[in-house]
Amino acid sequence: MTAAIGIKGHCAHCDITFELKPWQMNAIAIQEPFDCPYCQRILHLSCPRQLRRFKALDHWALVRPGMIVLTCATLIAALVAQWVGFIGLIEQLNLSLAVVLVHFLVLRYVRHRQRMILALQVVSPAQVLPIEQLARIACARLSQH
Ligand SMILES: [Zn+2]
Repeated sequence: MTAAIGIKGHCAHCDITFELKPWQMNAIAIQEPFDCPYCQRILHLSCPRQLRRFKALDHWALVRPGMIVLTCATLIAALVAQWVGFIGLIEQLNLSLAVVLVHFLVLRYVRHRQRMILALQVVSPAQVLPIEQLARIACARLSQH
């Protein structure tokens, strides 16, 4: 998740949009509630559509290194093709320019996909209680042994 940049969270309680830290993004990824840095309310991402888009970020993060490899390979292939006389110098330059252009367009699109604001909902006390109860039960059981 650290490769993803520009992801913000919006607290439904204090109406503040803030940059998400890596640990907060990890908490969202494993659907664990965490504190709002401003109002200290317990927040979580409840929208399944946003959660799906958030989890897809891992795949988008792989596009960048993949594109670098692909672009370099194509540029080298174009140079070799010109060197062996397969294509002319103008064709080689045109091809290289097109590849570099596509490269930057793809990266721009990926950056656009990575930029998102997650609408974080406040967890109601009723949803927190079972976890606390479970923890208490676990502690009680541990102390018995
Ligand atoms: Zn807040």
